[in-house]
Amino acid sequence: MSLLRELYQEVILDHNKNPRNFRVMEGATKHVEGYNPLCGDHYTIFVKMDGDVISDVSFQGAGCAISKSSASVMTSLLKGKTKEEAEQMFNHFHKLVKGELNAEENLETLGKLAAFAGVSEFPARVKCASLAWHTLQAALHDDAQTVSTE
Ligand code: ZN
Repeated sequence: MSLLRELYQEVILDHNKNPRNFRVMEGATKHVEGYNPLCGDHYTIFVKMDGDVISDVSFQGAGCAISKSSASVMTSLLKGKTKEEAEQMFNHFHKLVKGELNAEENLETLGKLAAFAGVSEFPARVKCASLAWHTLQAALHDDAQTVSTE
């Protein structure tokens, strides 16, 4: 468990302090707001699509360290990925934070996402960790302008 704990510390602290792609995007194809009223997390996710490829993704907003670092890691992983690849990553992430995927056995697939394995021990935090992902899903798939975890 110590490798995962190290990753958790490293990735979450780093991305919370220095969030990647933390900006309003000009000329975004779509932007969707996501709320987690339980914790007070509130972000807007911006995506720019080039056909089926996410050519750019960014976010703005405020919230706890878990939600912010999760949004930051997500944007850093998804640039240049197709919708389908993004979907697959979301599925892995969702299973991981719900405790349905063993992080140590799937380190290669998960990469930095493995840092969020510890979240599965704190059910209230699962919503914080997955907020950005749910919001991105809405941006990629339907016409929702806002997403709420409640
Ligand atoms: Zn939160």
